[in-house]
Amino acid sequence: MEIQQLFDPDSSTYTYLVWDAHSGEAALIDPVRQQVGRDIRLVRQLGLKLKYTLETHIHADHITGAGAIRNILNSIVLVHENSRSKCADVLVKDGDFVPLGTQKIHIMHTPGHTNNDVCYLIDGAVFSGDTLLIKGCGRTDFQAGDAGTLYDSISRHLFTLPGDTRVYPGHDYNGRTHSTIAEERLNNPRIRKGITRDEFILSMSQLELAPPQQIHDAWPSNLRCGTPDYNPPIMAGCTL
Ligand code: FE
Repeated sequence: MEIQQLFDPDSSTYTYLVWDAHSGEAALIDPVRQQVGRDIRLVRQLGLKLKYTLETHIHADHITGAGAIRNILNSIVLVHENSRSKCADVLVKDGDFVPLGTQKIHIMHTPGHTNNDVCYLIDGAVFSGDTLLIKGCGRTDFQAGDAGTLYDSISRHLFTLPGDTRVYPGHDYNGRTHSTIAEERLNNPRIRKGITRDEFILSMSQLELAPPQQIHDAWPSNLRCGTPDYNPPIMAGCTL
């Protein structure tokens, strides 16, 4: 599987283009609306067929490009079923997989930052969204977040992956690009080996973080795949 890491400087968000070199089938993980032009140019330059956009969760800090990209490239939008997304083509759950060429993208439900976080496991790499960051983890103080649940997701699921699994996070604010499960198990200051569940919950409760600047726009917009005028044909009876 080929991987290209892309960056949105305004939100410090990583977007990933992954593709199967044999078939040319591709997926974009966490596209950002302001970067849709860049992403589509790249897909076309590489001669790829974009099959999916994959959200690691409903974001609060940027607006997704998934809906705009679907309009242009006819890609399939995937989000976890807990999101109650109005626009996704497929609502996934733990243990599902999606085929990409001759390979599979495995879906791990890893709630805690929100109730709809998923990590995508692809060929020895895990795209960890905001569940596990490099030397950190996602906050747990809004969007149905829960520190104890995040501890369980990381310690019982992500940290049981092979140590050499590469970790590609949803954000980094210090220019770091990737890590490994072994490195985070040993040196992640929030949740390294030996920190108990209660200690983790206490430390998360003491963070006192300001709310994300775009939260009031981003969250409802992302339930519509980032396209404010999206008119849901299937779930028309649902409300925000
Ligand atoms: Fe997030």
